Amino acid sequence: MKIHEHQAKEIFEQYNIPTPQGKVAYTPDEVYQIAKEIGKKVVVKAQVHVGGRGKAGGVKLADTADQAKEIAKQILGMDIKGLTVKKVLVVEAVDIKKELYVGLIMDRGPKKVTIMVSEAGGVDIEEVAAKTPEKILKAQVDPLLGVKGFQVRRLFENIFKEKDQLKTALSVTEKLYQIFMDKDCSLVEINPFAVLGDGRLIAADAKITFDENALGRHPDIEKLMDMDSVDPNEVIANKYGLSFVQLDGNVGCIVNGAGLAMATMDGVKLYNGEPANFLDVGGSSNPQKVVKALEIIMSNKNIKSILFNIFGGITRCDDIANGILEALNKINIPIPIIVRLTGTNEAAGREILKKSGKDLIPAETMNEAVKLAVEQAKS
Ligand code: GDP
Ligand code: MN
Repeated sequence: MKIHEHQAKEIFEQYNIPTPQGKVAYTPDEVYQIAKEIGKKVVVKAQVHVGGRGKAGGVKLADTADQAKEIAKQILGMDIKGLTVKKVLVVEAVDIKKELYVGLIMDRGPKKVTIMVSEAGGVDIEEVAAKTPEKILKAQVDPLLGVKGFQVRRLFENIFKEKDQLKTALSVTEKLYQIFMDKDCSLVEINPFAVLGDGRLIAADAKITFDENALGRHPDIEKLMDMDSVDPNEVIANKYGLSFVQLDGNVGCIVNGAGLAMATMDGVKLYNGEPANFLDVGGSSNPQKVVKALEIIMSNKNIKSILFNIFGGITRCDDIANGILEALNKINIPIPIIVRLTGTNEAAGREILKKSGKDLIPAETMNEAVKLAVEQAKS
């Protein structure tokens, strides 16, 4: 889960990481007020969940409060990589002498948090990583020992000759690790970690991504979620206990169990089709879940066929069959529905569907079902 820069900045402040003074604003007038309060040059920054705002024109310097207001008029409502800017962060402009990069990620290879530091920070860090990866220094953190001074010193010793700066850099990095662990993050990043004209170090940008699987232990963080930036279908699915991920294809998949759902998508690909989604209705299958699943899938305009692939264990095929019928009575589904029901109560399930007289295409095996679904989507 991503949060906005102004929210990440607030977390940095709770951990005493130096950040520029500033506040979030939703209107040009609010921007004017904040700029007046700050009383010097400011930077107006688009708050959207995407990197590279600077290059896209979403980060601009203003000399006066009036100018900040004019800039805010341009940035608010602007489109950055498909996202509409609804709020901006107004911060004091700082005199940046050098832009460093400091980032912590969960590295899945070694299964450790990895600290990355580069002297070549700023807006071109992706290019640095791609073309001159040797300019990014890395250290892995042992989960039992935590961040060790010598590790971080090695990352920064060639950058900072000044003792106080080195000390600050070490302390900021330790705090970033603390945030990472306390809040179950998958990424914590400062880019640019700015060296100012007067020698101070400051986090001139703030980025935090959280591990969604850990949100259950962080209700305060869950509240930071920007509903505008999440797929509404995924929110509805979550509420009804369905695991749903939107994809680009046209074969809608309704499956029980994550493994079978993955295998079903593989099958669709194998027959040269494209799955429209991943959807796991979960173990216990009350008919209501099936209705919701079909509603979510039908809200996608690309859908050309629907594939039910149910292997009944705890899930009962008669429940699924009843859910399908209930859904068909509620919503109009003008596209072919292929149903493969097998396992617990399969005979009862098939009987229910057959008796209903509804226009469904039955399939015996998974292969047959997937093949039919792909053919139907193409015809
Ligand atoms: P991003 O492009 O989305 O990563 O947005 P950033 O917040 O990192 O801003 C992009 C760039 O704007 C930075 O790399 C800086 O070069 C510049 N910038 C941001 N804030 C300031 C500031 O206070 N003073 C100066 N001089 N430049 C800034
Ligand atoms: Mn940045």
